[in-house]
Amino acid sequence: MIYNDAYSVFAGGRHPHLLGSKVREGWPEVADFNDNVMKVGMAGDTLSYRDQELTLHRSGAAEQVFMNLDYSPVFGEGGKPAGVIAVVVETSLRVAAERKVQQNEARLLFLDALGKETARSHDADAIMAITTKMTGEYLKVAICAYADMDTDQDGFTIRGDWSAPGSPSIVGHYSLADFGKLAVQNLGAGRPLVLNDNLRELAPEEAATFQSIGIAATICMPLVKEDRLTALMAIHAKVPRLWTDEDLAVLTEVTERSWAHIERVSSEAALRAREAQLRVLAQVMPNHVWNARPDGFLDWFNEQVYMYSGKREGELDGNGWFEIVHPDDLQITVERWTAALESGGDFEVEFRLRRYDGEYFWHLARAVALLDREGTILRWIGTNTDVDDQKNAEGLLERRLEERTAERDRIWRVSQDMLGVADSRGVWINVNPAWTRILGWTERELVGRTSDWLEHPEDREATRAKIARLAADVNSLTFANRLRARDGSYRTLSWSATSVEGTLYCSARDITQQREQELALAAAEDQLRQAQKMEAVGQLTGGIAHDFNNLLQGISGGLERIQRRIEDGRLNDIDRFIKAATESAHRAAALTHRLLAFSRRQTLDPRPTDVNRLIAGMEDLISRTMGPQIAVEVVGSAGLWSTKVDAPQLESALLNLCINARDAMPDGGRLTIETANKWLDDRAARERELPPGQYLSLCVTDTGTGMPPDVVAKAFDPFFTTKPLGKGTGLGLSMIYGFVRQSGGQVRAYSEVGKGTTMCIYLPRHTGAVDDDAAQEEAAVERGFGETVLVVDDEPNIRMLVSEVLTEQHYRILDAKDGPSAFAILESGKRIDLMITDVGLPGGINGRQIADRARVLHPKLQILFITGYAENAAVSNHLEPGMSVLAKPFAMSTLANKVREILESK
Ligand code: ADP
Ligand code: MG
Repeated sequence: MIYNDAYSVFAGGRHPHLLGSKVREGWPEVADFNDNVMKVGMAGDTLSYRDQELTLHRSGAAEQVFMNLDYSPVFGEGGKPAGVIAVVVETSLRVAAERKVQQNEARLLFLDALGKETARSHDADAIMAITTKMTGEYLKVAICAYADMDTDQDGFTIRGDWSAPGSPSIVGHYSLADFGKLAVQNLGAGRPLVLNDNLRELAPEEAATFQSIGIAATICMPLVKEDRLTALMAIHAKVPRLWTDEDLAVLTEVTERSWAHIERVSSEAALRAREAQLRVLAQVMPNHVWNARPDGFLDWFNEQVYMYSGKREGELDGNGWFEIVHPDDLQITVERWTAALESGGDFEVEFRLRRYDGEYFWHLARAVALLDREGTILRWIGTNTDVDDQKNAEGLLERRLEERTAERDRIWRVSQDMLGVADSRGVWINVNPAWTRILGWTERELVGRTSDWLEHPEDREATRAKIARLAADVNSLTFANRLRARDGSYRTLSWSATSVEGTLYCSARDITQQREQELALAAAEDQLRQAQKMEAVGQLTGGIAHDFNNLLQGISGGLERIQRRIEDGRLNDIDRFIKAATESAHRAAALTHRLLAFSRRQTLDPRPTDVNRLIAGMEDLISRTMGPQIAVEVVGSAGLWSTKVDAPQLESALLNLCINARDAMPDGGRLTIETANKWLDDRAARERELPPGQYLSLCVTDTGTGMPPDVVAKAFDPFFTTKPLGKGTGLGLSMIYGFVRQSGGQVRAYSEVGKGTTMCIYLPRHTGAVDDDAAQEEAAVERGFGETVLVVDDEPNIRMLVSEVLTEQHYRILDAKDGPSAFAILESGKRIDLMITDVGLPGGINGRQIADRARVLHPKLQILFITGYAENAAVSNHLEPGMSVLAKPFAMSTLANKVREILESK
């Protein structure tokens, strides 16, 4: 090669070595091209190129060089080509400039096309899909991808990519560090990563990451927001590629634009969603909602406004809405609206708005300014709320209040009742005209002082107390008192008073007449009750008298016969009469006993009793009483507790229940007597009107007619019977009730019509031991040793009988017919060992009182009450040591033994 000076400039770094070298060796990078040149030229032909592009390494690095090349043979001797002459004009700068223009145009066209293509899209993923595809195709790369960075600034996810046919997708999750230090440095700092050939430019392990996903060359663009790497966009080539500025420029531009677009669409989407929400909200709100521009021009109303006003869309815009505001409210409305617009403060006004039908309703309008970040008003948002009801209610309330006040005044004036207001001491502040009407005193006489000058002396204290209580702690109370009228008479008043913060509001009704009538009525009722009682007593005494007469007949008849026989000296079958008389006497005793039981005033002799044993002792008797048609079953609970009860009374109660059961089973049936231990808890006890605790039950069940509820309710009433006249007395159950209650227990009926009845007696448990010789037979009478016994009884026969028996038993007897004569004996200083006294005595001093007086004189004196009746419940319930009771009637032998027992215990 030989060349001129100009070529030496073109040759760059190759000059001067090039001079004298072979073409092929001088330009090894274009050896093939020059081989062809030499071949053609040596063959005598020419070659011509315009703007031929070749990659030369004139100064070491590869370089695109453009040239106009003209080659012609140089003929030597013999006319044969001896060499080739080359005319080289480098056009690189021109071509580059031209290319630049073309590329710019192309890029602009491309970006324009991309813009158009993505403009229609409002979805970030769709935008990126279009962008990567168009960019990849335009730059003729293998892959175009985008990725989101994780918050740790290292992990990233390639969410979408475009890959040319034959290239793999690289979607997936990666670590930035794996792609090399350069990647981390550049991208982290917001600079692009440009790799033309990663194998040459990176450490092998870093390049390996690219290689493993088939990538040799890369441009990666970072997106840094608020100092944080948030996303990546990259283009990749499968083989090393010398990226041009153009490539970088295109990718930079694309990245910026697409991200801007994505941000816009996502914020637009958010805005649209918010707007949509607001619109829905505005539409579903029952209130009117409206919007206005910052200048106060109303430009949007929700459906409710149009529906209410009957206006069409647009008609209310601007100041159009003034048209539906009530003319009287317009001025204030406009004033407030203008003030709000000027100050930016809230708008609020109450105005009447015209409905489509011409009617006006009160609304509360409110609007607030919507500000941007800088505080500039963007819009006004307003609402109108229907407050018509409230508005009207306010008016109504005022009117009602006035009416009420007027009404109260009227009531005050015309009230029939005395109305008054007093201070906490009861000093009248105000009284109504009824005072004058009822009492005759004038308002001036009454006001300014309490009414105690009018109060009936008997009521004064109570009335003052009521006022004090009212003033002190209670809110209201009612009471009655009497006030003196001007004419001197007293009026009875029923008061009802309330205290409110120390002031007393009182009303009083004149119930003088009513009270008189009530008293009269009460008196009448009392009389009636008395009459009824007398009638009942009359009936009862009549019945008893009848029975008693029969029994007395038996007794006196028997005695008469005996006397006669004795007179006649015929003593042989005198026993018969004695027996008849005794039997009658016993029955009479039983009758009186029943009566006393019913009055719950019998003298009970409760002793610890084994109820099972008591029933066993009666089984025979009951079976016989029931007759053959009724099966009797006794179910005695094992381990039954004992109870303290008057055993003979319990026997008679049980017998009574059995007889009732029999009467309820005229055609036969089954009678069950059952005992059980019962724990009555609070509820069970309350149901039975007993204190909670341990009881035993004695139940008699029959399979008889049963009782309807109304009969159950009355069964225990004295004289209540459903049995025909002469058959039932109606005293059976009432006696049982009296006895059981007196024994601390209860009796209950459980019955169902047609099925049968269960009557249960509950008796309290007694924890002491059962007294085994309780049912001890009349034993032999023991004699006395000359002790002195004072007998006090108003009944001479009893005194006589007692004296007779005790004298016979070697006691000395003193007797008295009443208190005074007894005291005379007691004070005489005579020795007395025992006083036997009746309780009910004439002359105003009863046996108990005599006993108390006797004890003063003779502190150790033993006392035995003998009583047929009544107050002895009181007596026997409070017996002191050394005092005993014996119920009449008693067998004479019982008396004798009791006397012995007492004297010996001493
Ligand atoms: P009397 O037996 O004299 O009628 P009671 O006081 O013993 O009086 O009973 C009152 C009423 O209670 C009876 O007339 C009867 O109507 C009803 N009665 C009592 N026990 C039973 C029972 N076991 N079955 C059905 N009714 C009964
Ligand atoms: Mg009966």
